[in-house]
Amino acid sequence: MPLHDSHNHLQDEHLAPHLARVAAAWPDLAGRDGRMVVNGTHPTDWPRVAALAAAHPFVLPAYGIHPWDTGAPRPDDWLADLRARLLADPRAGVGEIGLDRWILERAAPDDPRLAGLRRASMDEQIAVFLPQLALAAELDRPATIHCLHAYPDLLPLLRARPRPKRGFLLHAYGGPADLIPELAALGAYFSFNPSFLTSRRPTLAPPSSPPEKCNQIGYTVPKPHISPKLQAFLKIPAERLLCETDAPAMLPPQAWRTHKLPPAADGSPVNHPGNIEAAYSGLAQLRGLDETALARQVADNFRRLFGT
Ligand SMILES: [Zn+2]
Repeated sequence: MPLHDSHNHLQDEHLAPHLARVAAAWPDLAGRDGRMVVNGTHPTDWPRVAALAAAHPFVLPAYGIHPWDTGAPRPDDWLADLRARLLADPRAGVGEIGLDRWILERAAPDDPRLAGLRRASMDEQIAVFLPQLALAAELDRPATIHCLHAYPDLLPLLRARPRPKRGFLLHAYGGPADLIPELAALGAYFSFNPSFLTSRRPTLAPPSSPPEKCNQIGYTVPKPHISPKLQAFLKIPAERLLCETDAPAMLPPQAWRTHKLPPAADGSPVNHPGNIEAAYSGLAQLRGLDETALARQVADNFRRLFGT
């Protein structure tokens, strides 16, 4: 069964020193048909995403302006550039786009991940998000959405606006479990990020431990001691589950890392896309599923949304 990383940033400068090694390792760990969706975040990195897609058959490109990069200057013709890139490659999707209230209301003023960024207001974020969603809907391309502490902003927009017929991805879904049925009805897929696993939680053991008892339907009895994010992943319909790394961001906890990279020069941690293995093993354990059965389900879901 192939493994698919439904969301990463292989073009990111933090992965540049390791690119050759990561690319060489990918077919061995993900299988010949394993794919990764590489998401641009601003028009300045779209050419790097396109170059990776041209160089590596396992790369599916996505182009978009991330809410964190919405405050950066962009060329006047960015939307025409986005349309041209989508039309030039039928495999290309729209992403990473979205809304983020965390950067406005919760992030520390000196959070190093946001250093040098102008934090765009919610109105600005919406003004950049909507035309990108509209283009994905018009061309029926998969849209990958980042939503952090902004579901009350996002949900009315998703209800009211055209959406891609094939669906869209809510990457690293961290929203409330009770929104899942409506989001799924609107076309959402939900990707599991292994950073949601923590070594502190005894109910989910690292990969070396024996798997929990299987339930053929893929749902386990609710586990009272796991985090709300993990509880939410018990409620997601099987046909809407995907796995992701968000590499080089969102490093999994130490016990789950199967692939390690040295920290960047500025000391920030660097996640390896090979840690997609942890997403599959963690999600399989959480849902009480055999890993092969989960991989088969995720491969079906990936094909439905991303077309390959
Ligand atoms: Zn991302």
